[in-house]
Amino acid sequence: MSLLHVEGLKIHYGGIQAVRGIDIEVDEGELVCLIGANGAGKSSTLKGIVGLLPHGGQVHYAGASLKGRPTHAIAAAGMALVPEGRGIFARLTVAENLAMGAYLRRDAAAVRADGERIYQTFPRLAERRGQLAGLLSGGEQQMLAIGRALMGRPRLLLLDEPSMGLAPLMVQKIYETIQAVAREGMTILLVEQNAHLALQVSSRGYVMESGAIALAGPSAELAADPQVRAAYLGE
Ligand code: ATP
Repeated sequence: MSLLHVEGLKIHYGGIQAVRGIDIEVDEGELVCLIGANGAGKSSTLKGIVGLLPHGGQVHYAGASLKGRPTHAIAAAGMALVPEGRGIFARLTVAENLAMGAYLRRDAAAVRADGERIYQTFPRLAERRGQLAGLLSGGEQQMLAIGRALMGRPRLLLLDEPSMGLAPLMVQKIYETIQAVAREGMTILLVEQNAHLALQVSSRGYVMESGAIALAGPSAELAADPQVRAAYLGE
C-alpha cells in the first residue's frame, strides 16, 4: 500500500484552476519526482497535500484520509514540507532552527544525536551553528531547511525545488544529500523544475502541465521519452 495516495486533487485560486484533479502515489521508501514548467501547479500540489490550501479530491496518508485535518496535525503525523524559498527563521541561529524542527519530540538524547548527524552531513552548518540563519548563503539555507525537516524524523519528506537559485556546485551538494537521505530509506516526493536532476535521482516521476499530469512512469523511461526530452531536457 502506498504511503501517500493523492486522488483527484483540485486546487483553485479564485477563478484560476491551478490543479485539475491529479492522482499521485508514493510508496514507502520511494523517491518520486514531480516535474514541470514554471506555473504548472507543482507547488500548489504540495501545499494542498500538507493542508496549507483548501482542495478538492482526496489525500490519503498512511492509509487514512487527511480530509479536514489541520496542517499541524499532518506535520505531527510525519509529513514534512521543505517549501520553496525555504522558510527558515532568519533571526534564529542555525542551531535554534534545527531545534525548532524537533519541537514535537520528547526524546532529548535522540534529538541531540540527530542534530550531530545533520552537522556531519552538512559540515558547513556545523561551522556556522551559532550564526544567524539569515546570514547564510542560499545553498546553506537550503541545507538548513532540509536539516530542520529531518530533525522532526519525518516519514514523508516533500521537497519543493531544492535546486532553485543555487550555484551548480551547491546544487550538486544538495542532491548528494537528498540521495543519501533516500538511501537510508526516507520516502521523498521531490518537486523540481530541473527535470534533468530530478529524473536522475528518482525511481518514478510525474510530469505536470497546466495543472494536470501529462505523463507518468519510471524516471529512466521519462528521461528517454522524446516529448520529455524536447520539452524539459532541452534536447
Ligand atoms: P513554480 O515552479 O513557478 O513555483 P509551480 O508549478 O509550482 O510553479 P504553482 O506555484 O503551483 O506552480 O502555480 C500554479 C498556478 O497557480 C499558476 O498559474 C500561478 O500563477 C497560480 N497561483 C499560484 N499561487 C497563487 C496565488 N496565491 N494566487 C493566485 N494564483 C496563484
